[in-house]
Amino acid sequence: MEQQLKELQTEALAKVEAAADLKQLNDIRVAYLGKKGPITEVLKGMGKLSAEERPKMGALANEVRAAVSAAIEGKQSALEQQAIQAQLEKETVDVTLPGRPARTGNAHPLTKVVEEIEDLFIGMGYSIAEGPEVEMDYYNFEALNLPKGHPARDMQDSFYITEDILLRTHTSPVQARTMEKHKGQGPVKIICPGKVYRRDNDDATHSHQFTQIEGLVVDENISMGDLKGTLEVFAKKLFGEDREIRLRPSFFPFTEPSVEVDVSCMCGGKGCRICKETGWIEILGAGMVHPNVLEMAGFDSKKYTGFAFGMGPDRIAMLKYGIDDIRHFYTDDIRFLKQFAEHE
Ligand SMILES: [Zn+2]
Repeated sequence: MEQQLKELQTEALAKVEAAADLKQLNDIRVAYLGKKGPITEVLKGMGKLSAEERPKMGALANEVRAAVSAAIEGKQSALEQQAIQAQLEKETVDVTLPGRPARTGNAHPLTKVVEEIEDLFIGMGYSIAEGPEVEMDYYNFEALNLPKGHPARDMQDSFYITEDILLRTHTSPVQARTMEKHKGQGPVKIICPGKVYRRDNDDATHSHQFTQIEGLVVDENISMGDLKGTLEVFAKKLFGEDREIRLRPSFFPFTEPSVEVDVSCMCGGKGCRICKETGWIEILGAGMVHPNVLEMAGFDSKKYTGFAFGMGPDRIAMLKYGIDDIRHFYTDDIRFLKQFAEHE
């Protein structure tokens, strides 16, 4: 019996050693240490042994069980370790590979131009005023000297939501709202940047949505000279010190007198495709705030005067960057937008 038990131990240990994975090892555990295993079988023959030999064999059987059990545990942790190692090797990261560069975005060309113009006017003491894009007819038209039925407010030009609410067609309602808040007390010195909407057939130079920046100054003794001086500084800062401006008479319902403002072309007046051979490029409309507009906003037009101007950053960005189609600003082609990144 002693011989049988020792053979069993040798056999079991050899199998444990040879076990290739945790499943095989578990099978060995069940086969040798289970209730129906060979060790239990051998011990059934104990009845034939003498009284002295019985405890000896019992002790030996326990030793064999303990040895096999220890071998199994040892093998189990070795196999588990191996499995972890194998997984680690499989999932190794090659830290010597070059990293993927992070893709950074850049400001939209319109945003850049708007911010540049904002900075310029902030430097001249203006503050920025903003207002709703969904606007009341009163602020969009009536408060700006455009009563209902005025020919300049053609229904075709606007996106109406109800009869009295529309998508603003210019940023001028922000001027009207700001003046109203001042309750007849000057000075007012603001610029109003923002998106505006008009019913238009989109083409290379027209879009149903575009950007506008308007400026408004209301105070005592504001004259046309102040307007011209301000716009001259603006044009030189934005386009270059060698540029000049000229004013041409025009008409807007909310200003009197009104002017169109041209900036001298980069061709230096020789004439080119951009200025259509005239040497001048129209960049904005301006004028002295109409007394009716001042009065409607609660200002005494005998005490206060003011000037206002409005420009299209879309057009300015097109001139500044040589962009030939306004639709590029709104179609979000990443190849177009990437050209305005400050650094790669
Ligand atoms: Zn030119």
